[in-house]
Amino acid sequence: PPAPATAVRDAFLSFFRDRHGHHLVPSASVRPRGDPSLLFVNAGMNQFKPIFLGTVDPRSEMAGFRRVANSQKCVRAGGRHSDLEDVGRDLSHHTFFEMLGNWAFGGEYFKEEACSMAWELLTQVYGIPEDRLWVSYFGGDPKAGLGPDLESRDIWLNLGVPASRVLSFGPQENFWEMGDTGPCGPCTEIHYDLAGGVGAPQLVELWNLVFMQHNREADGSLQPLPQRHVDTGMGLERLVAVLQGKHSTYDTDLFSPLLNAIHQGCGAPPYLGRVGAADEGCTDTAYRVVADHIRTLSICIADGVSPGMSGAPLVLRRILRRAVRFSTEVLQAPPGFLGSLVPVVVETLGDAYPELRKNSAQIANLVSEDEAAFLASLQRGRRIIERTLRRLGPSDVFPAEVAWSLSLSGNLGLPLDLVELMLEEKGVQLDSAGLARLAKEEAQRRAQQAEPVHEQGLRLDVHALGELQRRGVPPTDDSPKYSYSL
Ligand code: ATP
Ligand code: MG
Ligand code: MG
Ligand code: MG
Repeated sequence: PPAPATAVRDAFLSFFRDRHGHHLVPSASVRPRGDPSLLFVNAGMNQFKPIFLGTVDPRSEMAGFRRVANSQKCVRAGGRHSDLEDVGRDLSHHTFFEMLGNWAFGGEYFKEEACSMAWELLTQVYGIPEDRLWVSYFGGDPKAGLGPDLESRDIWLNLGVPASRVLSFGPQENFWEMGDTGPCGPCTEIHYDLAGGVGAPQLVELWNLVFMQHNREADGSLQPLPQRHVDTGMGLERLVAVLQGKHSTYDTDLFSPLLNAIHQGCGAPPYLGRVGAADEGCTDTAYRVVADHIRTLSICIADGVSPGMSGAPLVLRRILRRAVRFSTEVLQAPPGFLGSLVPVVVETLGDAYPELRKNSAQIANLVSEDEAAFLASLQRGRRIIERTLRRLGPSDVFPAEVAWSLSLSGNLGLPLDLVELMLEEKGVQLDSAGLARLAKEEAQRRAQQAEPVHEQGLRLDVHALGELQRRGVPPTDDSPKYSYSL
């Protein structure tokens, strides 16, 4: 029988500890410590940033790290690597996932050893057939004055990968950066062919091996790091899917208990794994969104990030509301349903991350309270819309002031796109010009307050403005960098 996820995770860690002398370190919290450039921890390397930059306190334990490995809790919702928009729509991206990684600091080992260890683990320990694996390497970036990484290419060829499965790509794919600033470098990646040699390859990215050599400065320039390092990351969910013979991370034992619980708790038709147009009525998408989001909520709350009004807490609030909408509106979940999934998350992840078990009751309570508050806001919003509609003539547009007051910046905290959806359901047009004016005034008001807005709540108003822009209303801010929509 295929190995359960727990065994796959353990095998990774013991491979690096027992066969290759790595020191195992626990996952850091998903809340970045002292790094305002991040909303959430988005990769295993985040906690080692001081080592890469050469700023580590020489008295700290970290100063002694040479070879380490771990399984890091990562959240990619907001910021450079955000996947929030894709989650639910595909079968391989999550807002929370576990990143298995190994590191070699200060040249302890470099490209050759990193590639051969990865190849040994995948093909000999996990037993993945070599002919299902493809690799990519950095093809260079003339604009940045960076040449191709032919060293990595040759290492793969020497390991026996045929040239037809060793491909080069540009900086978009094969130059990894943690954020808009910070450590970065060329990378080489291992992909798995789901199609199994039948017809065109259907590749899913498994493992990224980054060779940290530069720091991206605030002015966009690249500066050399004091030393070179290896930084790797492999998604546990994808690896488990491959080893369990599945095309989807949702078909593994990391997700199936959740999908079952959703089926049982909602009475919706069973999960069938359909995507895109085939998923008529979005039932399967809703299953995936709810399963994904409750994991993220549980992990984040256990680490002390709760849904709130700005920054990471605001992102989490949007994640919660997205989960509530999909569960109640698509899957017909009863009130209080979301909180009832928390014990299932704790059951699957609690051994690896004991903070989940420790805080399990508090997490469930918080999720339930927030769910109830959002459902109440929705109900009040609907009543206000009804009341307003009764005052309107048949050809009137819906007043911008009312929509605004329902929205995030107003009283009920209903995102504008949701308000629009509710109006669409009623077949009524919104006064979008009026709304744009209000949004602009609000943006100006906030700008005058001159509060530091980096990754703060204002981002969401920027998103609202982006929405207006989409509808042809002139923009007042052209950088909707972090966009989330319900
Ligand atoms: P993709 O191209 O699939 O979005 P990525 O290039 O953004 O992945 P990396 O930043 O290279 O990913 O992260 C290292 C590994 O982490 C990936 O190879 C993949 O296995 C895993 N991973 C990345 N993003 C996600 C996600 N949203 N959900 C699950 N696993 C992920
Ligand atoms: Mg990505
Ligand atoms: Mg990629
Ligand atoms: Mg990658």
